[in-house]
Amino acid sequence: MVSWIIGLVCSSIIAGAAWRKKSLSLSGAAAAIVVGSVLYALGGLPWYGTLMVFFLSSSLLTRWKHRRKAAVESSYAKSGRRDAGQVAANGGLGVLLCIGNSLWPDPYWWAAYIGIMAAVNADTWATEIGGLSRAEPRSIVSGRRVPAGTSGGITIMGLTASLCGGMAIGVAGWLFTGWGAPQAVTAAYAGSVTVTAVIGLAGMLLLGALAGMAGSLSDSWLGAVWQVMYRCPVCGKEIEKNRHCKDTQAVRIRGASFMTNDAVNLISSVIGGGASLAFIGLLT
Ligand SMILES: [Zn+2]
Repeated sequence: MVSWIIGLVCSSIIAGAAWRKKSLSLSGAAAAIVVGSVLYALGGLPWYGTLMVFFLSSSLLTRWKHRRKAAVESSYAKSGRRDAGQVAANGGLGVLLCIGNSLWPDPYWWAAYIGIMAAVNADTWATEIGGLSRAEPRSIVSGRRVPAGTSGGITIMGLTASLCGGMAIGVAGWLFTGWGAPQAVTAAYAGSVTVTAVIGLAGMLLLGALAGMAGSLSDSWLGAVWQVMYRCPVCGKEIEKNRHCKDTQAVRIRGASFMTNDAVNLISSVIGGGASLAFIGLLT
């Protein structure tokens, strides 16, 4: 019970600050409080701390050089302010894995969690840092140059950022499980400590890098090939949202309507989790 209260209080303070700073919408803040409370109460510091590294780093990166990125982002579904759908796409799977781990403890839950967090963090870092690249992106599908901000456009800077974003989660997972000193963490989180202790810091770095790249590249590929795209009838721009210019209904030009940006994020984070499970399965 105490851990639920601590989780609720900490998450409310952080989500409240993020809402005031316009990093989260009201629905996004409510969703973040639920995600944070469950992860703290059921997963303790390893699960909650890893989520916080993703949340705080992505919020800071989103605000960083916001004005320069805003020009590119205006036609896309992503905006600086994350709503409940985006929080759920990023944190919902983590919550399910954490609940699974508390019901049927097993190290694989933690391995999958690190993989999905590495994937979402890598993708966010790639979007926020790669968006500042002066090099013109190339399509992950055709290799041809595409305008900055296009779904599926990749740059060296973006790829490097996604590698670092994945590795940051690996390091966070290692730190919050007792930085190689597993006795520092209570038995309740034994599963997460087992994985980290077996593969060590180097293994966690490699795991984060691998899952992050798998998630981030599949996000680019799904974004380019499957994601729904609309055209605004007023200005003629190709956009990810179904409304543009003064909230005019846009016309779908390709992709399935359920394959929104949130759906693409969700699927690519599952791929990151799968890559992590495969990696752990091969090592242990
Ligand atoms: Zn328009």
